[in-house]
Amino acid sequence: MRYGVIGAGALGLTVALRLVQRGHDVTILERDTVPGGLAGSFEVAPGIWLEKFYHHLFKTDRSAVALIEEVGLGEALRWHRPTTTVFLGDHAYPLDTPRAVLGFSPLAVPDRLRLAAGVGYLRLLPSPGRLEKQTAGRWMRRVMGGTTYETVWEPLLRGKFGDAASDVSMAWLWARIHCRTADLGYIHGGFHQLYLALGERFTSLGGSIEYGAGASSIRSDGGSVVVGHKRAGQEDESTFDRVVSTLPTALTVRLTPEMPEAYSAQHPAPRALGAHCLILSLDRPLSDVYWIGVNEPDIPFLALVEHTRMVSPDEYGGRHLVYLGNYRSHDDPLFSWSTDEVITQFEAGIRRVNPAFDRSWIQEAWSFAAPFAQPVVTPAFARTIPGFDTPVPGLYVANMFQVYPYDRGQNYSIELAERLITHLAA
Ligand SMILES: Cc1cc2nc3c(=O)[nH]c(=O)nc-3n(C[C@H](O)[C@H](O)[C@H](O)COP(=O)(O)OP(=O)(O)OC[C@H]3O[C@@H](n4cnc5c(N)ncnc54)[C@H](O)[C@@H]3O)c2cc1C
Repeated sequence: MRYGVIGAGALGLTVALRLVQRGHDVTILERDTVPGGLAGSFEVAPGIWLEKFYHHLFKTDRSAVALIEEVGLGEALRWHRPTTTVFLGDHAYPLDTPRAVLGFSPLAVPDRLRLAAGVGYLRLLPSPGRLEKQTAGRWMRRVMGGTTYETVWEPLLRGKFGDAASDVSMAWLWARIHCRTADLGYIHGGFHQLYLALGERFTSLGGSIEYGAGASSIRSDGGSVVVGHKRAGQEDESTFDRVVSTLPTALTVRLTPEMPEAYSAQHPAPRALGAHCLILSLDRPLSDVYWIGVNEPDIPFLALVEHTRMVSPDEYGGRHLVYLGNYRSHDDPLFSWSTDEVITQFEAGIRRVNPAFDRSWIQEAWSFAAPFAQPVVTPAFARTIPGFDTPVPGLYVANMFQVYPYDRGQNYSIELAERLITHLAA
């Protein structure tokens, strides 16, 4: 069969590889000029790649680890145990081990015990079950207490989901706590190596990737599916027997005028927030930890991730690389600011974390944004998730909005790809 796959992220590349391995004729249409999608990278220095948004794996990301091994990068996948902390007041507190939780001084000892017991319970609970029907705010307040909720969880939910924080499902928080490990995996040379290797394996088996080819329309035509795409300003069309779109379902619907309205009504687009990362290349370290989750509402970023506290700065020519991350709604002014303006807005916040910070430490800076990066997972979310099939014959949707109850991540896109392949074969 002739297959078209829209998107060369973790999902699209895995689907495409599996299809070509099964003897199909497969073309990927990718709008960007490099593979990897949300996990994609840029050249931080000639030949040195870094993710546009901070990325690591957890030990529980078994499908991702299996794929990394399959494409010959098993040796390059290294496990680290960097310190992760929560910033409160003017201090970063470790909160990544039971011992750290018991020593977490912003909470009174009985609250610390409740926090440890609640986290322990969620780590042992094998599936979210009835938690799906509750909001995280309600469950956390009841089980861990109001003070713990307001100190630890509410700032996290507010930072990630803004004014939708109180609507977030407890299933989302269950997945976040249940699946995370203190050991973090990173591929030597970056996740770019995985996407390059997947692309190479795919093309060596006869597949083709069209970079810079953004799909602009999808229609059916006598049993085939026709995808219109734009490349270097040129409009073109490609005809396939089947098409898999890995774009958010709402975008696929927008590209497909013949999609019945009943389909959109049954699967309304969930709210999604955009992601923004400012990346600073510094001449010295900023902090002494990898991850600082910022729980102070007056600091204008949600996370400060010092990548070179997990991977040695030597691998980046001595650069100290720091991400300052945010999730915001699409119309937030942050998305329209220049990199310099973002630095100006963030400077005082950075100084809260390290009072000695000076702008002269910055050697280079970049900012990246992605408009659909984090679905708002409410208790009603599960009912809106579409299956792989659509009413348009031969058109399938598979995207990170379908990995529920898990939080989006490369591992879950890869797992979803494997499930889609079983579905297509059936
Ligand atoms: C800030 C941030 C931090 C993250 N941290 C981690 C982490 O630590 N670990 C982890 O595993 N995951 C992390 N993730 C999540 C991870 O990046 C995603 O879950 C995963 O990459 C999604 O892959 P995907 O292929 O499903 O979707 P995408 O990566 O979104 O792939 C979709 C592809 O479609 C392309 N496309 C879009 N429109 C068109 C069009 N019209 N025509 C053709 N192509 C098009 C895009 O360019 C993209 O390549 C993070 C995400 C963000 C935003």
